[in-house]
Amino acid sequence: MTEIIRINPTDPEINRVIRAAKVIREGGTVAFPTETVYGLGANGFDPAACRRIFEIKGRPADNPLILHILGPDWLDRVAGEVGGRAMEFAEKAWPGPITLVLKKNAKVPGVVTAGLDTVAIRCPAHRIALELIEYSGVPIAAPSANLSTKPSTTRFEHVVDDLDGKVDVIIDGGDATFGVESTIINMTVEPPVLLRPGAFTVEELEKHLGRIMVPEAVNRTATDGEVAIAPGMKYRHYAPDKMLVLANDSTILRGAAMMAADMDDPIAILCSSETANSLMKSIKLRNISVIILGSEGNLYEVARNLFDAFRALDETSAKMGIVQKFDDKGIGMAIMNRISKATGNSAIEKLGDLEGMLEAQ
Ligand code: AMP
Ligand code: MG
Repeated sequence: MTEIIRINPTDPEINRVIRAAKVIREGGTVAFPTETVYGLGANGFDPAACRRIFEIKGRPADNPLILHILGPDWLDRVAGEVGGRAMEFAEKAWPGPITLVLKKNAKVPGVVTAGLDTVAIRCPAHRIALELIEYSGVPIAAPSANLSTKPSTTRFEHVVDDLDGKVDVIIDGGDATFGVESTIINMTVEPPVLLRPGAFTVEELEKHLGRIMVPEAVNRTATDGEVAIAPGMKYRHYAPDKMLVLANDSTILRGAAMMAADMDDPIAILCSSETANSLMKSIKLRNISVIILGSEGNLYEVARNLFDAFRALDETSAKMGIVQKFDDKGIGMAIMNRISKATGNSAIEKLGDLEGMLEAQ
């Protein structure tokens, strides 16, 4: 049985937070909102509770979890060596959507870090998450609150779809602010290395840390035999059940829409409001579902709607989805990273490719 606890995200009812915190302390699992996406949390010092997270999600045991802490003061509870630079950065950037990878200390169980000697740590900028950590009194290990491979959950309803009946508590605390996961940076090396682009932009990172390394491999799924830069990177991620491909440019998107209009194998187009308007002016969008991600002038809106759109694609009668390319500056880098993972790096470069793809569905 899953208990639903509704909590006001801007002014949390403390008695309700305490009820959820008790479940964490007693070794249970609690799905809770953060400013990035919903998390599936358990006591980060309790190996059995953390193992439940992997079982519930169907998550491979070699994909480590992020520990959520109350602030930089808690770093020495979980990290071995913090170092002045990491401490200074944490003090400036937290609470916020940035996860630091540091050397772990002996108290952090191997199940959390998948046996690595490093641990991923962040302090979320969300009232409910912070109060839950405070009243639990322990670091909360939490990956995104979705079934493994599925898009992360950004709304309470999506958490219920994936986890109802599997976790002890789901907190209903409204929608996530950013809609994409935290940025992950490895601070154990110099210069620090970006392991996952996220809601905290590379531009902001450089402002705080100076030069950082952005490996080419960060935006694609590791190929067979290749060592992934972060353990989670080798897995298919964020994917709708239906096939999703990227349209490399707007001509392809338009061509695809025209082509699909004459077929009984409908496609769905995931695009900006600007693209949708321009498509609708020139073509009759018969047989096509259009899922609007937001305005190109506000990529934060696109990020917030992205995982929702992936889930919406599965609800349409379309055989497959085609998603528009976005500028990869700022939060756009996280958007394009999630799109690359969700499409398994597959893009339509010429219209002829689409016919074959549709036939294969
Ligand atoms: P999730 O919270 O579901 O977005 O997953 C957490 C991500 O953090 C995974 O993709 C892991 O690869 C990454 N991660 C966690 N711990 C470490 C670590 N010690 N070193 C590198 N990456 C990590
Ligand atoms: Mg995840």
